[in-house]
Amino acid sequence: MLTVLNCIAAQHDLRLVALAAVICIVASLTTMTLLRHIRNLPRSSVRKVWLAGPAIAAGFGIWATHFIAMLAFSPGLPNGYSIPLTLLSLLIAVAVTALGIAVAVSAVVHGGVSLGGLIIGCGVAAMHYTGMAAFETEGRIIWDYSLIATSVLLSGVFAMAALHVCLGVSGARGRFIATLLFAAAICAHHFTAMAAVTIVPDPTIIVPPNALPGNWLAIGVALASVVIILLEFGGWSLDIREQRRAKLEAERMRGLANAAVEGLLVCDGEAVTAANDSFAELSGFSPSEIVGAELTRFFPHSIAPVRRTADCHTIEAELRHRDGSMSPVELVRRPIDFAGKPHDVIAVRDLRERRQAEQHIQFLALHDALTGVPNRACFNEALDQAIDAAINGGYQLAVLCLDLDRFKEVNDLFGHSTGDAALQTVARCVTGLLNQDQMMARLGGDEFAVILPKISARTSARRVAENIREALLAESSTAEPGCFVSASIGIAICPFDGVTREELLNHADAALYEAKADRGSYQFFEETMGAVQRDRHLLQNDLRRALARGELRLVYQPQTSIETGEVIGFEALLRWTHPTRGAVPPDQFIPLAEEAGSIIEIGEWVLREACREAATWRSHLIVAVNLSRTQLHDVDFARSVHEILLQTGLPPGRLELEVTETALIRDLDRALATLRQIKALGVRVAMDDFGTGYSSLSNLRAFPFDRLKIDTSFVKSIDVQEKTAAIVRAVLGLGHGLGIPVVAEGVENERELQFLARERCDAAQGYYFARPADIAQFEKITRGSKTDCGDQQLAQEKLFAVAAS
Ligand code: C2E
Ligand code: CA
Ligand code: CA
Repeated sequence: MLTVLNCIAAQHDLRLVALAAVICIVASLTTMTLLRHIRNLPRSSVRKVWLAGPAIAAGFGIWATHFIAMLAFSPGLPNGYSIPLTLLSLLIAVAVTALGIAVAVSAVVHGGVSLGGLIIGCGVAAMHYTGMAAFETEGRIIWDYSLIATSVLLSGVFAMAALHVCLGVSGARGRFIATLLFAAAICAHHFTAMAAVTIVPDPTIIVPPNALPGNWLAIGVALASVVIILLEFGGWSLDIREQRRAKLEAERMRGLANAAVEGLLVCDGEAVTAANDSFAELSGFSPSEIVGAELTRFFPHSIAPVRRTADCHTIEAELRHRDGSMSPVELVRRPIDFAGKPHDVIAVRDLRERRQAEQHIQFLALHDALTGVPNRACFNEALDQAIDAAINGGYQLAVLCLDLDRFKEVNDLFGHSTGDAALQTVARCVTGLLNQDQMMARLGGDEFAVILPKISARTSARRVAENIREALLAESSTAEPGCFVSASIGIAICPFDGVTREELLNHADAALYEAKADRGSYQFFEETMGAVQRDRHLLQNDLRRALARGELRLVYQPQTSIETGEVIGFEALLRWTHPTRGAVPPDQFIPLAEEAGSIIEIGEWVLREACREAATWRSHLIVAVNLSRTQLHDVDFARSVHEILLQTGLPPGRLELEVTETALIRDLDRALATLRQIKALGVRVAMDDFGTGYSSLSNLRAFPFDRLKIDTSFVKSIDVQEKTAAIVRAVLGLGHGLGIPVVAEGVENERELQFLARERCDAAQGYYFARPADIAQFEKITRGSKTDCGDQQLAQEKLFAVAAS
C-alpha cells in the first residue's frame, strides 16, 4: 500500500492523476447506468446490441484512465508509445469488458455476475499490461511480480463487487456504490501495477522514432473521453426516459388500483405505504390517514393480516372504520415488488352484502316463504330445545296444533290467492298474540303449530287457545264474506302427554282431530284420543295393498229408462272387503285413497275393469264410472282412458264418466281441459250429484255434459217436502231446456218414481229397481236373455204400471 502511495506521490503529476480519477469515475458511472438499463431490457438480440454501450464506456474509460495516468507518470527518461500496441490495448479493453458484461447479464451462466466481474477485472489487467508493453522508454523495466498479482486480484475483486451491487441493489445508492467500486477496480489496479514497475536507465535502449509522443497520446485520450461523455449523456437521456416511463406506469397503476372495487393496501412490513380510493371509501379514513398507519389500526382484532395467504386463499377479518364501527371483510395478502422493493399487497373485500345475503338464505331455509313464520325444520329444532329446557328446569310446555276449518273450500271457491291471504292473516294474528319466548310455525298446508315454553299450568295454554280463536273471529268479521277463517286447536302438554317431539305432536294432532269435529274449538289431549286417527292411518296402509291382494271388486247398479222401463246402462261402484273389518263403505275409503294418492292407481283399475266388463255386454248398454277429483287433475288421465278403451275394445260412446261439481272446482281450467280431451275421444261425461255443488249453472255453461244426475238427497224427499220437489222440477226443467237428459238417483219407492215420471225425468237408478250387485246378477240383461232376473222384472212391471196410469 505504502509502495503504491509512494509511487503515486513521487512519480506522478498529481493534477493529471486527479484528471484520470475524474475520467475514471465518469466512465464508471456511465458503465453502471447503461448496464442497469440493459438489465431491465427483455432478453433479445436487441439487448446484445445494447451491450456495446457499457462495453465501450468501460473499455474507453479503462483505457483513458490508464493513459492519462501514464501521462501523469514521469520516470524522468524520454519515452513514447508504440501505436499498434496502444490501439490493441484499447481493443482488448472494449472486447474483454463486452464479454464480461455479456456473461454477467446472461441468465444462462450460473454465477454469471461473479464470473463477468472476474472477466472484466482480467480485462482491466490485460489492457494495462498491453498498454505497458506499448510504453517505450530509454531504460529497462523491472517488475515486482507480487504487486502484479495483487493488481490483478484487486481489479478482479472490485469489478465483481461492482457488478453485484449494480445488478442487485436498486436505487441511486446502489448505482453510486457500484460506480465507486468499478472506479476502484480500475484505479487500484493501475496504481498497484505502476508500483510494480522500476525503470533502470539503459542508454543502449533508444525510443524508436515512430513511437507516439506523449502529447499526441493526450489527443487520443481526449477523444476517448469525449466518447465517454457522449455515452454518459446517452445514459442520462435513457435515465430520464426511464423515470418518465416509471412515472406514467405508476400513474397507470394508481388509476388501475383506484378503479378496483376491492380495497387495496400496499404494506412494507406492517406499515401501509399506499392505498386505493376504494379502501379509503370503505374504511372512511382519508388517504393521508391511511398511508403510514399500522395495519392493526384497521384490523385490530385479527392477527390475520400479518399472515400471507396461499394461492386463492382468503381470510376473514373485521375492519374498523373511522367512526369505530366494525364490518366483516375478506383479505388476501400477497408479496409484490413495489417501487423496486419487496412489499405486500392486501386486497380487502367488503363482506357486508354477502353476509346479508347469507342471513337471508338462512332465514329462507328456516322460514315459510308465504307467511314468514318459522317452518317445520326450524320448529322441530326449537321444540327439541324447549323440551330439553322444560324437562331440565321442571317446567311444563304446551304444543298447540292449529288447522284451519273449511280451508280447502276457501281455496276451491275463492282461488289460491284468497287461500294464501287467509294463511297470512292467521300467521299474523297468532304471532301478534305470542310473546318473545313463544313461537308459531307453519308445518305445511293449513297446518300451524305453536310452542308455549315454561307454562305454569294448563290454564295458560287454554288462555292462548281462546285468544287465538277470538282474534281469528275478530279478523274474520272484517274479511270478505265467505273468507271467514276459523281454526281448530289441539293441545298437548309436556311432560304429561309426552316427553319427545313425536309424542307431543302426535298427541296434539289427535286432540286437533277431536277439535275438528266441533269447528273452531280447542281440545286438550286425553288418553282416549288418537284412536280414530291411528285407525285412519292403518286403513290407509291396508288400502295401499288392497289392489294387489285382490280385495277390491266392482258392483253394478242398473240405470233404467223411465219411459220404456228398459235398462239403459249400469253404474260401476267400487267395493272393498277388508280381510278383518269386512266391507268398508266407499264414502269412507275413497277419501282415504285420495288423501294417500293411491286413487290414481285404484281409479285406473276400476276403469279398466268396468270397460272390460262392459265390452262383453249387449251393445246398447253403457257403463258409468265415477271419477275422483285427483284423476281429473292428472295430466295423463285422458291418455290412460284412451289406452284402456283400445285395450278392452269398448266403443268410447258406451263409456260415461261421472264427475261431481266439487271435483271441478279446485282447478277448473285444468279439469275442463281433461274433460275436453275425454270428450274428444267420444266418451260421454255426466255431472254427478247435481245440485249439491256450488255454482251449478256456470258449470253447465262451461262444459257440454251428456247427462245430469240428481242427487239422492233430493229424490229422498220429493214426495214430502214441497221445496225439494220444486228444486227437482227446476233441475228437470233446466235439463229439458238445455237438451241434457236427467237421471234421478236413489229412487227407493214408487211414489218417487211416479213423481219423476210425471215430471218427465229421463232415467232412474235406485234400490227400487235394484241394489248395486255383482254383474252376474244382471246376466239376463247384459247377455240379452228374454227373461230378466227377479228384481229387474218386478221393476219393469212397476214401471209399465206407472206409465199406464
Ligand atoms: P255416487 O256416485 O253418488 O253413487 C251412488 C251411491 O248411491 C252409491 O253408494 C249407491 O249404492 C247409492 N244408492 C243407489 N241407489 C240408492 C238408493 O235407492 N238409496 C240410497 N240410499 N242409496 C242408493 P255407494 O256405492 O256407497 O257409493 C258412494 C259414493 O262413493 C259414490 O256416490 C261415489 O261418489 C263413490 N264411489 C263409488 N265407487 C267409486 C269409484 O269407483 N270411483 C270413485 N271415484 N268414486 C266411487
Ligand atoms: Ca256416481
Ligand atoms: Ca251421485
